[in-house]
Amino acid sequence: MTRTIWHYTCDHGAPGIRSGGVVVPNHHPLLGVELSWFTDLERSHRHEAGLTSARIACDRMAHRFAVADPAGLIWWPRAARVLAVPRAVRDELEEGRLLAHWWVAFGPVEVIT
Ligand SMILES: [Zn+2]
Repeated sequence: MTRTIWHYTCDHGAPGIRSGGVVVPNHHPLLGVELSWFTDLERSHRHEAGLTSARIACDRMAHRFAVADPAGLIWWPRAARVLAVPRAVRDELEEGRLLAHWWVAFGPVEVIT
């Protein structure tokens, strides 16, 4: 059985994903690249998924979309190596999280709506 991997988003992100059927990468201020995030964690693991809302008012887990084909995703620890993400940036992103449960994509990802 293939595990389900989701893209979580807030009330602002959901309508565009629902109408287009794809998750589109966004510029990430710390990483300096455009990417989108995915996880197989449930809502009960909000902190581990890195989807807390300490900096923004939105509920970043208000909506979720299942990825149609997880084969197109890149496991975050691998992507972080490929991008040569500085240790300090990784620490800021990953501290206390379950980064083995994170995936990213650098292009549009089809989701089930
Ligand atoms: Zn929002």
